[in-house]
Amino acid sequence: MKKQNNRQRMSGKKCAAITIRAFRLLCHIYPGVITSMIANIIWKALTPYVGIWFSARIIGELAGGRNPEVLKNLVLLSLICAAAVSLVGGILGRWAEAESRRTWFAEQYLFVDKNMRMDFVKFDHPETQKLLHTIEESRKNSGWGLPRLLWSLQDLISPFFSILGGTVMVISFFTSHVPESAGRWTVLDNPAFLVLLIAVMAAIPCISSLLANQGGKYYAVNNAAHSMANNLSSWFSFKGHDRKAAGDMRFYQIDKLCMKYGLDRKHLFGSQGYFADLARGKVGLLNLASNTVSHIFILFVYLYVCLKAWAGAFGVGEITQYVGALSNIAGTIGQFFRVWGDIRNNAPFLKQTFEYLDLPNDMYQGSLTTEKRADSDYEVEFRNVSFRYPGADTWALRNITIKFRVGEHLAVVGCNGSGKTTFIKLLCRLYDPTAGVILLNGIDIRKYNYQQYMSIFAVVFQDFKLFPYTIAQNVAASGRYDGEKVRDCLMKAGFGERLKEMKDGPDTYLTRKRNDNGVDISGGEAQKIAIARALYKDAPFVLLDEPTASLDPLAEAEIYDRFRSIVGGRTAVYISHRLSSCRFCDKILVFSEGRIVQQGSHDMLMREEKGEYATLWNAQAQYYAEE
Ligand code: ADP
Repeated sequence: MKKQNNRQRMSGKKCAAITIRAFRLLCHIYPGVITSMIANIIWKALTPYVGIWFSARIIGELAGGRNPEVLKNLVLLSLICAAAVSLVGGILGRWAEAESRRTWFAEQYLFVDKNMRMDFVKFDHPETQKLLHTIEESRKNSGWGLPRLLWSLQDLISPFFSILGGTVMVISFFTSHVPESAGRWTVLDNPAFLVLLIAVMAAIPCISSLLANQGGKYYAVNNAAHSMANNLSSWFSFKGHDRKAAGDMRFYQIDKLCMKYGLDRKHLFGSQGYFADLARGKVGLLNLASNTVSHIFILFVYLYVCLKAWAGAFGVGEITQYVGALSNIAGTIGQFFRVWGDIRNNAPFLKQTFEYLDLPNDMYQGSLTTEKRADSDYEVEFRNVSFRYPGADTWALRNITIKFRVGEHLAVVGCNGSGKTTFIKLLCRLYDPTAGVILLNGIDIRKYNYQQYMSIFAVVFQDFKLFPYTIAQNVAASGRYDGEKVRDCLMKAGFGERLKEMKDGPDTYLTRKRNDNGVDISGGEAQKIAIARALYKDAPFVLLDEPTASLDPLAEAEIYDRFRSIVGGRTAVYISHRLSSCRFCDKILVFSEGRIVQQGSHDMLMREEKGEYATLWNAQAQYYAEE
């Protein structure tokens, strides 16, 4: 597989700006996480210095005064301090951990909330879906985007306090001088040594981090290839456990194909693949160089500090303190640079995140109220409506003109792709017409408040979804519901018999996989629950797109027999492929290539022998007739 480059170059200023914006967003969505994280980091950063300080005092006393009383007090005090420090550290750690568990949810919610508020037409657009998919994949692979920034923040705050603590520890190193009696060793006090030490302290971590960042950059640059390879190789583990894929897996031995991606040595992740080559080659060498450089620095510090102690500038005990603190400072300076490298690598992913979160809603939304009327007196009219999907060059609907009478039951029939579902989507305003206008009680539907307009429709889509909650929660679409009403709707939708078999009734969880008392249901049963959900909503319009496609013929007949009582006086629009099931409707609309080519009752339409309806009817009827 070829590697791909998805990294856009961004200037340092732009990286900083987008990171600050993301940081503000993090503070907004995870306030508790940020506070607990900062408190925990500060504590962790300062903790090592307590040990270093006491060790220096104890070693100093051992090498110097050797007073047992002082030693005893120092050891006792250091133990008490160590216990107190670790106790507070433990409490802060627990707090940070408890808060951090919410980060995943909070971040997911950020996207889910955006999806819910976004125009459906924008959300459904292939470009939007591609962007969302890229963000998801990058996040899943290496935490690129907001999670990575959270990690970087931890690495950024911690060195700041480490340096602060370390500086306090080494002030005395810079102020203690080699005594005159040391003769030529007084040269160590020459300011040139200090300047050299500070220069090396700053330069070496920079070089070390730059080398490490060069290595890390390869992973960001190759994120697209990384995501792709991850997907292909992990597919095996997902599909290998998937009950729905088990049949195809067995008959076509797909496991062999999946394994190819998991075990092929030349595959991107294989032992002879691109990432292994990188680890052995460029990235490996850069990491080796980075580590070597930082070790050289520690050697230099040891030498200088030991020589000053040898010359009598301070006691042996302080060697531990100064070497520990100076290496810590240098290491953390390096961490700053590494974090900056990480932030730069992450900035293009944050840019993608904001590209998504900033997508504007272009759909016009008015403010008129639809006021839920007790008499359900709503009249809808399509006036010369045409529609083309975004990016498509063919019309999905052409010049549709139709008026629904209140309480009317309409059937919509036609071949695949003739525009039936699109008609429903326009009616409930998932899309706006490209031309023409849809009116509710004589007013353009765009002028109504969008949420209120949606609330007058209960829809069962062809590809409806149920959720892994209880049946009652699915029907009511809420955690709080009217139990009697839930039962009633389930009965009306034909789920009554199955409900009686369930020990927990409507409180039974869907899918046994997630709950011991849960149930697995068939496609037909799921469809009945979806119908019950539409009934529970009590909306004046019921839109059913192939509501019985998964039902067996008996269940289907039962639903149709009771359709009028199920839907009651509400206006119902109903799509079906089985023409026999449309006979009970007041009016049938026949769609062909995006147009309404016929409309009327079943008997009326059958009289037009050469019409689309009679042709479709006869095509279906012949199989039964022949049998
Ligand atoms: P039906 O419900 O009658 O099968 P649809 O309303 O789903 O037909 O589709 C009508 C036309 O619009 C078809 O040509 C279909 O390919 C096209 N179409 C449907 N959905 C989309 C979409 N999301 N993007 C682009 N074209 C679409």
